[in-house]
Amino acid sequence: MTVRTAAATLTGLPAYLYDLAALRAHAAEVRAALPARVELYYAAKANPEAPLLAALRGLVDGYEVSSGGELTHVHAAVPDAPLAFGGPGKSPEEIAAALRLPAVRRWHVESERELRALAAAADRPVDVLLRANLPVGDGALDGVALAMGGRPTPFGMDPDRIEDCLALLASPGFERLRLRGIHAHLASGLPATELLRLAERIVGWSAGLAARHGFPLHEVNVGGGMAVDYADPEARFDWTAFGRGLADLLDRHPALGTLRIEPGRALTAYCGWYATEVLDVKHSHGEAFAVVRGGTHHLRTPATRGHSQPFTVLPVDHWPHPWPRPTATGTRITVSGQLCTPKDVLAARAPVAELRAGDRLLFAMAGAYGWNISHHEFLMHPRPSFHYLDDGA
Ligand SMILES: *Cc1c(COP(=O)(O)O)cnc(C)c1O
Repeated sequence: MTVRTAAATLTGLPAYLYDLAALRAHAAEVRAALPARVELYYAAKANPEAPLLAALRGLVDGYEVSSGGELTHVHAAVPDAPLAFGGPGKSPEEIAAALRLPAVRRWHVESERELRALAAAADRPVDVLLRANLPVGDGALDGVALAMGGRPTPFGMDPDRIEDCLALLASPGFERLRLRGIHAHLASGLPATELLRLAERIVGWSAGLAARHGFPLHEVNVGGGMAVDYADPEARFDWTAFGRGLADLLDRHPALGTLRIEPGRALTAYCGWYATEVLDVKHSHGEAFAVVRGGTHHLRTPATRGHSQPFTVLPVDHWPHPWPRPTATGTRITVSGQLCTPKDVLAARAPVAELRAGDRLLFAMAGAYGWNISHHEFLMHPRPSFHYLDDGA
């Protein structure tokens, strides 16, 4: 069954629909565009639903987790998968839990405090990457959706702090920690050209650091952040150009063993859909509004990013009531949810030929940072239903 057919027929709206076959096909394309020396990890926080994690197994080399909760959950969903454990503010309990799990193959250390806590708690060898917050300069990150580096942030360490950590790693008590290389996730929402430029800087800086300090640079993780264009559901990050650029970068750094990337949004955004129905159509001070069942407490992404979530109208011709059907024709319409806040907007002033109460709407690109970043409890509306379509399996 296609997503569209399912959305048009299922009961239990609102609903999240996931197309697992489409997810696998997309991930396979991404993998095929990357050179062999590039490892692909999926950043689980973009969407940690177990069926998605399982669908990606075999197409990704591992999963990046950023909390003790994700650690436990992802390991249960894909028990044989390698995990990289990142995230600022790892608590002593999380550090202990991660040390008990052999699946945790890489540790992204975010501070000197964490390095000391890890060394003190480690009862086995631990492979670490030091997370760097590099100055990128010349406005390279101006206008990106989210910047985690290149400016003051709580993420990773400044270059001089990284050097302090190198000194610590060479000192007594740190023997169990094995430095594998550098991790940097500096920004989210960058097109391939810009992301390649960042990767060049990260790898170049890491190679220089390794040369100065005389340690072998086994690997560099250049993070995620591949752009997703919500204004154009058909557009995709240019994985082919990105893969070629990374191949080129690796050619210039033959001593570097592995380059790793950890996209989240760009892997799962396209495989998720949010389907709902129009409860009411109203006109207010010259503008049209459609109020749908559900809203941003289920799909918060458009509210937090300030975009319109792309949607298609699934007309429902049956109207069971004796009173006139609220309708908007040939107009722009703002699609809002059931919350008592003007911020509950899924799409603003979107053009529609016709939209009536009782019609269904199918929102695309809801597969990443959708349900799991939303404020579900606000106003205590019911939760959506969840459906996993898998025609390809
Ligand atoms: C969130 C995150 C990612 C994934 O970012 P996307 O923009 O979803 O690709 C990768 N690495 C780290 C460390 C992150 O925090």
